[in-house]
Amino acid sequence: MRDATHASNPWYSRTDTTRLDLPDSTWKRVLPHDLYEVARHAATERAFTGKYSEFEGIGTYYCAACGNALFRSDAKFASTCGWPSFFETVRPGSVSYRKDSSYGMVRTEVLCGRCGAHLGHLFDDGPPPTGKRYCMNSISLEFEPD
Ligand code: FE
Repeated sequence: MRDATHASNPWYSRTDTTRLDLPDSTWKRVLPHDLYEVARHAATERAFTGKYSEFEGIGTYYCAACGNALFRSDAKFASTCGWPSFFETVRPGSVSYRKDSSYGMVRTEVLCGRCGAHLGHLFDDGPPPTGKRYCMNSISLEFEPD
């Protein structure tokens, strides 16, 4: 699917899962500035400000940078943390992980498995069945209703 939001992003695809390895300079050119800052520089949107924090639509969440499918709405749960939270990804390999030691904490960073965009962090205080909490930036996600 391509719409006006992605007209300047030739790498956006909901179907192509080929890994992308593009330099930041390329992403800077094709992404909106606020998304670029989160996706490529791991900025974090302020709690309770994101469009999906309290959102309950039924459908699929895609990477806003590249279109890769990330989460289904049935894995989303009401978290009090102020960011959209999920207990599992849509499929193995839809995201990748990296140790993040910034800000005096050791956390697990969650990246898009296709384009490497920063999405958020993974914590171990989620609900059953996984016990995981994927704490995501709304701006990194794009929801498509069923
Ligand atoms: Fe992506």
